Amino acid sequence: MMFVPWRHIADWKCNACGLCCRAYSVVLNFQEWLKIVKNYGVESTASSLDKLFIQRKSDGSCAFLHSFYGTHLCGLQQTKPKACKLWPFKIVSKPEYGYADDAVYSYGEKRLFVYADSACSGLRYGNPTWEFSNLVLKEFTEIALNLRVGQHKTTGNINLLEL
Ligand code: SF4
Ligand code: SF4
Repeated sequence: MMFVPWRHIADWKCNACGLCCRAYSVVLNFQEWLKIVKNYGVESTASSLDKLFIQRKSDGSCAFLHSFYGTHLCGLQQTKPKACKLWPFKIVSKPEYGYADDAVYSYGEKRLFVYADSACSGLRYGNPTWEFSNLVLKEFTEIALNLRVGQHKTTGNINLLEL
């Protein structure tokens, strides 16, 4: 796992490759766990000694992942957990993954540090576009800070009619 500071990323667009929903376990907070249990049953979740997760299928993928003709869609959509909404970005208050000058990001008075997990195939490297730095990262930051729930710029936008 390698984290890239945002100033090296031109833009990001989810291409629904499904990697993130197949390769990682999704950790839930208690409210997220409760919502999934109420709507889909406790069997949709799993737990360890100190963590709650979304259940994984026998192939390791998330229980809510749906695949159609090589593309992958989330069955939870706007109610997906915060960890899924933020992937592949990490928005932290300290430069935890280095390169502070390239990772620093201002949101109002707040000084944050933004990185992306290089495993995501939706990243395009280069100088950040205006839309990426002003709209996409702003939305990710607002989700991280619990200032917004809905996703517009930070989720895949696959037209099922085109599949
Ligand atoms: S966020 Fe990245 S890894 Fe996940 S499905 Fe989209 S492109 Fe693939
Ligand atoms: S909840 Fe949705 S976005 Fe999150 S891992 Fe499962 S399918 Fe992927």
